[in-house]
Amino acid sequence: MRIGQGYDVHRLASNIPLVLGGISIPHHQGLVGWSDADVLTHALMDALLGAAALGDIGTHFPPGDPKYKGVSSLSLLSEVGQLLKENGYKVGNADVTIAAEQPKLAPYIDAMRIALAGALGCMPDDIGIQATTSEKLGFVGREEGMVAWAIAAIEKI
Ligand code: MG
Repeated sequence: MRIGQGYDVHRLASNIPLVLGGISIPHHQGLVGWSDADVLTHALMDALLGAAALGDIGTHFPPGDPKYKGVSSLSLLSEVGQLLKENGYKVGNADVTIAAEQPKLAPYIDAMRIALAGALGCMPDDIGIQATTSEKLGFVGREEGMVAWAIAAIEKI
């Protein structure tokens, strides 16, 4: 078994779509980025790539590349799953924590787990997600951005 960690931050801006864990979430703000800026999925991808020592998402999906402009991070996650497979690995389990002051994410967590597992070809039970606020402290608390941390275990096929 091998273990990796991932971390990501994206800025919030008004009146753009919010996508987290592959799920569109109604909110007056969304995350800014070259792709769909799905901070939760980005942290998960980096944890998986890190576990296999295969670099990071910036190496595989460079921001600025027109191919990835506005791309769904779920499709990138599928590519990461494929890459793991090609390198002889399968996902053991993964656990992600997201810090967002608003909106309340609890109603969307199960849909995210299903979406992420679907993209990776594992079971929803293999993906844990926790959501927390930042108690109004720091940039998360001021609703200037969101942060996600992930850890993932992979196994040799
Ligand atoms: Mg990112």
